[in-house]
Parts: sequence; structure tokens; C-alpha cells
Amino acid sequence: MSYGSYRYTKAEVDLDKITFNFKSMQNHISAGTQLMAVIKADAYGHGAVEVARHLEKQGVDYLAVAVMDEAIELRSAGITCPILLLSPIEPDTIPTAVRWDITLTIFSERIAAAVQAFARITKKTVKVHVKVDTGMGRIGARTEEETLRLCQLLNADNIFCEGIFTHFAEAENTADPSFTKKQFKAFIGTVDYLQDKGFNFSLRHCSNTAAAMLYPEFDLDMIRTGISLFGYHPDPALKQLLDLKPALTLTTHAAMIKSVPAGQTIGYGRTYKTEKEETIATLLLGYADGIPRELSNRWYLTSKKHKASIVGRICMDQLMVNVTDIPDFSYEDELVFIGDPDKGHPSIYTMADLTDSFHYEILCGIGKRIPRVYTKGEAVKAKQNVLLDR
Ligand SMILES: *Cc1c(COP(=O)(O)O)cnc(C)c1O
Repeated sequence: MSYGSYRYTKAEVDLDKITFNFKSMQNHISAGTQLMAVIKADAYGHGAVEVARHLEKQGVDYLAVAVMDEAIELRSAGITCPILLLSPIEPDTIPTAVRWDITLTIFSERIAAAVQAFARITKKTVKVHVKVDTGMGRIGARTEEETLRLCQLLNADNIFCEGIFTHFAEAENTADPSFTKKQFKAFIGTVDYLQDKGFNFSLRHCSNTAAAMLYPEFDLDMIRTGISLFGYHPDPALKQLLDLKPALTLTTHAAMIKSVPAGQTIGYGRTYKTEKEETIATLLLGYADGIPRELSNRWYLTSKKHKASIVGRICMDQLMVNVTDIPDFSYEDELVFIGDPDKGHPSIYTMADLTDSFHYEILCGIGKRIPRVYTKGEAVKAKQNVLLDR
């Protein structure tokens, strides 16, 4: 719901970085393994339509989303790449999914039966992937027999059983990979069991980003990656496995700069008191934009390689920073809330630790009212202090 940008706050997404990350991941996985780009939750906050269009141009094999609205959003924008709906579909919306050519995840007998009935009655083709629960405990058939039962229900005219997949619960746990290996073994066991019964799938997939980074032997026909495309590792401990570049930079400019005498308080609840005369800047950025309120008095933005500490409680739409020690700080100076840690910007990994959160959650939480601005590389980077009226 952003109509342009009427404040100096924007999330700039560098599509060249996404290309770099996509290629980095593609080079990492086995030749012949396809890549499914998981762009649920508005492409982890980066904007699903733009990211999908861009990845389609790069030759991505498959896209995945979580909910039907996300799939329809992509199709309405003209995305023609296959799209898998990862999360449970509601039986009533099967016709909608088929109308928009969305591949469904079959995770229970109830859904398999509903799909079978739909295909029989309408004679329309339904494309499906069967989900096996090997230890995530979320959705999927939990035994070989249960999975076979799903396949038998789906073994009908007009149903195309294209894929079978499972999801790891802790693939990033390098200290103890035993559960991940057990899940893989169970998945392969099920696939073999089904093959013996005459059920074959052209797309067998299990690896998310962490597994794709750590276990090339699990690649099979396709891997599913989300976080890597945006330049982050599932866990910072996996950094050395693959070079990635953060694609999003969340920046703003001061809306008011003032000098505050010593001993005065800043913000709700008066949690910060100036120690001496301090220069305080007010920014048009708040917890409604996805800035965790727990960061009040505990975090910073960067400007000209200096830290601007958040002082006082973060408000819904504004926050205040101490810019006393930033030389010649002015309204022209950009302040960065999310950026590339290698360039000295705040790290969302540390931010997540500090707020008992998760870096995925911080990216997804970037408010809808912050305009996403797409750039290609540094060269075309828009002049910083310009309002973008689109
Ligand atoms: C979200 C999700 C993924 C992608 O996870 P990343 O850690 O971003 O790679 C893969 N598979 C399923 C089933 C998911 O829900």
C-alpha cells in the first residue's frame, strides 16, 4: 500500500545482488538439480512480483509460495513459471488453484480425496506434489502406508503427480546432523517403497537452503531455497559455505535535527535522558514499519560509517537517534537500518539475537508501507535524498 514515497524511508532492493545469489546457489548445487525459489511472504519482504519477474528472466525452474493469495498475485502479474503452493490448501479453494495453474501440496487423505473428486467431476487437470512428514511434524503423510494411500487416491484421470517432497526440521544443525540424515533416509525409503508399488515422480525434493549448502548428496531433482536469494544464510555459522550478498538496504534521512540540553528526556516513558548537550535526530521509521520495539535504547543506524544510537522508546512511526558524534550530520545524510554488514551496516543476525527473534522474521517484518525501490548495481543507484513520486 505505498503510493510512492512521501518520506525519506525506503527499502532498496538491488536485483543484481539477487542474480549473484541465485547464481551462487545454482553453482553450488549438483548439475542437473533444479532450483525452486521460495518467495513466500512477499519474497521475505523484498517484493514477490518484482523478485519473481527477475528470477524468471534468470531462468529459475520453479517458484514456491505459502498461501493462495501469494500465488494469485504472481499469476495476475503475468508470471508463467510453475508455482508450488507449499502450505495446506483449503478444500474449497481447489478450483481457484486449478484456474490459476498452481501446483498443490497434497498432505492428507482429506485433501487427496477432495482433489480426486474435483478432477473426476470437472475433468480439469490438477498438478500436485505429495508431502511426506519425515520429522518436521507440520504437514504430510507420516508413514509409508499413509503416503501410498495418498498416491492411490491421486492415481486418477486428470491428476498429474509431478513431485514428492519432505522438509527438514534442523538442517542447519551442524553440531548434530543425525536427525537430518534420518529424515533423508526415511524420505528415500518412502520414495523407493512407492516406486516398488508403481508410483514414480519426476521431481523429488527435500533440501531447503541449509541442506542444499551442507548436503549436496541430498540434492535429488530439485532444491528449495528462499533466504539465500536475498543474501543471507539460514544461520550465520554457515557463512563460509557460500558467498552471498544482502540485497536489501533500508534507509532513511533525518526529518528533524535539534540540539537538546543536558538532563532532558526523549520519548515515551522518558527512558532516555541526555547526559550533556546532545544532537538528536528524529526519523520517520517506527515499529509499524517493522523496527522491533525491543531495540529501544539498544541499537543503532549507521550514517557516514558512524553509529547513530536509538535513544528513547521506538514509537509506532518515528524514532530518535543520537547523532552528536557524527561530524557535520545533516538532513542530506543517509541513515541505514538494514544493510550489508561487510560494509559496516547493522547486522540483522545480531539484531535478531538481541530481540530473541530470527533474521528471517526481521526481513518479513519490514512494513508494507515502506516503498520497495528496485535498482541494478551501484551505478544506477538513485540519488539518495530524493522523494520518489511514482
Ligand atoms: C520456507 C520454506 C523453504 C525455504 O526455506 P529457506 O530456509 O529460506 O531455504 C523451503 N521449503 C519449505 C517447505 C518451506 O516452508
